[in-house]
Amino acid sequence: MAFSKIQEQFIDQEGKYGAHNYQSLPVVLSRGKGAFVWDVDGKKYFDFLSAYSAVNQGHCHPKIVKALCDQAQNLCLTSRAFYNDCLGPYEEFATKYFGYDKLLPMNSGAEAVETAVKLARRWGYAVKGIPDNEAVIIDCEGNFHGRTISLITMSSDPSSYYRFGPFTPGFVTIPYDDPDALRAELDKYGEKVAGFLVEPIQGEAGVRVPHDGYLKKCYDLCKSHNVLFMADEVQCGIARSGRMLACDYENVRPDILILGKAISGGVLPISAVLADDPIMLTIKPGEHGSTYGGFPLACKVAVAALQVVKDEHLTEKAYHLGEIFRREMGEFKSPLMDYVRGKGLLNAVITKPTDKVEAWDICLKMAENGLLAKPTHRNIIRFAPPLVITEDELMTAIGIIKKSFIEMEKIM
Ligand SMILES: *Cc1c(COP(=O)(O)O)cnc(C)c1O
Repeated sequence: MAFSKIQEQFIDQEGKYGAHNYQSLPVVLSRGKGAFVWDVDGKKYFDFLSAYSAVNQGHCHPKIVKALCDQAQNLCLTSRAFYNDCLGPYEEFATKYFGYDKLLPMNSGAEAVETAVKLARRWGYAVKGIPDNEAVIIDCEGNFHGRTISLITMSSDPSSYYRFGPFTPGFVTIPYDDPDALRAELDKYGEKVAGFLVEPIQGEAGVRVPHDGYLKKCYDLCKSHNVLFMADEVQCGIARSGRMLACDYENVRPDILILGKAISGGVLPISAVLADDPIMLTIKPGEHGSTYGGFPLACKVAVAALQVVKDEHLTEKAYHLGEIFRREMGEFKSPLMDYVRGKGLLNAVITKPTDKVEAWDICLKMAENGLLAKPTHRNIIRFAPPLVITEDELMTAIGIIKKSFIEMEKIM
């Protein structure tokens, strides 16, 4: 992929002065609007990553940006040492929106998962009666919950955990999409298990969608063993999957709901944990927190971002456009393509890599043709455009994807 002198400068600068903890596609962006981003040379691209589904509402949504700018003139940060006039209204709005008693505000997705783990452990000791320091959290193979030490303890991806040990005790990993594995663990030592942590769709694993009924079966198993069902909806939640929450497909209401990414529409790092009183109130004043968690700016942005999801019917749009995407890509035949899977507008194309053409190379070709997506693993490309994308735009984008595959067939 040819890129200009000016792009090269920015890329070299990051290489020289920044830690090398990402392998980015070689494109330098400077502007975004709706489903599109532009590079520093003015070239326009479809954004089919949406910052890992943070930008569900589209880039620089005017209502969210306005909420940010208005509040930034008034008051940005108080810390929780004092009350502010934004947090209460946000908490009321968000708890009614998702149907929970209480919300605990954090910043990153990883922090929210950490918070959920602490909350489940605390509940395990205070309510369930697990002996001190013996609580277990069951997690699933292939998970991605974030980058902290405790969260990478759960990871099955060596690039996440290799040489970052020692790790955190108290986690047990079982196969994903396997309710029998959960049953076996719970039968063995369910009385020590505080929570079962699961992504209703595994995003980073390559948009792994479990079988219908999986979440409900796991939920019921949790109930029969007095174990909290904890859903990490940081990526698949907030309209992305074609439902407000991916758990909604099976009418499962998580005991602990973990949100991040799109709760701000890609404007600020905002995350949240939601639960009902018997769980949430086990954490007392001074026992958990974050300097920025629930800061006034975040509160206003989150309310605006969640309102946009409803006002613009993004859940219904994601459902409808997702059907189109999978139909179109499902009918497309290429020796480089295996199949397409996903829900709503969270989809992945499983490729058939050759010696010369891996998913990465197809992504480079798509970038050249004006569409940005990123591989997860050697043979999977995730396609997750902002949910504000129109049907016409989606059809154009699908054309670019097909064209790119066809062009790569010539050099495979
Ligand atoms: C991105 C992600 C996280 C971590 O969020 P950060 O904001 O990057 O810390 C956690 N869980 C899931 C499912 C994610 O996709």
